[in-house]
Amino acid sequence: MVVAMEPGATEDQVAAVIARLQELKFDVHRSTGATRTVIGAIGDTSAIETEMFEVMPGVAEVVRISVPYKLASRMFKQEDTVVRVGDVAIGGTQLVIMAGPCAVESLDQTRTIAERVAKAGAKVLRGGAFKPRTSPYSFAGLGEQGLEILRSVADEFGLKVVTEAMDRTHIELVEQYGHILQVGARNMQNFSFLRELGKCRMPILLKRGMSATYEEWLMAAEYVISGGNDNVILCERGIRTFETYTRNTMDIAAIPVVKKLSHLPIIADPSQGTGRREKVAPMARAAVAAGADGLIIEVHHDPDRALSDGAQSIWPDQFEVLMAQLRQIVPVLGRTI
Ligand code: PEP
Ligand code: MN
Repeated sequence: MVVAMEPGATEDQVAAVIARLQELKFDVHRSTGATRTVIGAIGDTSAIETEMFEVMPGVAEVVRISVPYKLASRMFKQEDTVVRVGDVAIGGTQLVIMAGPCAVESLDQTRTIAERVAKAGAKVLRGGAFKPRTSPYSFAGLGEQGLEILRSVADEFGLKVVTEAMDRTHIELVEQYGHILQVGARNMQNFSFLRELGKCRMPILLKRGMSATYEEWLMAAEYVISGGNDNVILCERGIRTFETYTRNTMDIAAIPVVKKLSHLPIIADPSQGTGRREKVAPMARAAVAAGADGLIIEVHHDPDRALSDGAQSIWPDQFEVLMAQLRQIVPVLGRTI
């Protein structure tokens, strides 16, 4: 249930509603917007009469939420959430580009790529130090050494770091070296992990699970937010369908749909989304045109020798061309880059 206060409601009126809800043993989440305060009540509201709250001073509207995700829903919070990482804001008017190798392989490799993507306008450096690989025999990342490389290179070029934690034992390390913690597609419904991330103070980049519906994806976000961490960025990275030509089927429609259902920022990953280098730029352009708040793109200076996802990694030259194209697209959308 959501209680929307009048735009001019006083602090005492808000407090009275919260106190009443707490008295009824609800878990209360408050969202203080630019014009109005909205109060979310989590728990079984089926036995409650909404009229009881509707008549309270300062209350504009009481809505029972029919979607199972409450805190992630647009009904709970009308304004777009902007996730801030230092001077980088994801979900605002600026399109945020995250780029870098699939995996951190060495200092030289990461430095070479970071220098190029930073120069071309990326704001966040991506790179996995803990890699979820289909085969246990594939390169699984450099671990803490990889994180060290990633952070030192990012600092050198004025970039922020996004990197994956695969389980709870990685959280502390990613907090130490990173700025945004990535939850991989394969972990989107690892509920105990999501609960842990609710306690974490850093922004979470939540990839869509390979076969996750929008509702399942937003419920995963709900786990993190209800655990106490509001800073969730969603990432469409393609889903599994009957089509095998591309690695995944990039669901561009997810972007406008999620924007309507949720206040959370959403970015797109055309690299995992297509699995094919030549398809990355067209899907990146499409995602931006559809309203994505940012992109995460795999770039490698020598993709044929990459230890992970070389076939979907674009060359720095291609990344530069794409950035130039995006610079022409964003003004039409009222955004900057
Ligand atoms: C990645 O970003 O390299 C990755 C493994 O992503 P996903 O979890 O979306 O497959
Ligand atoms: Mn990858």
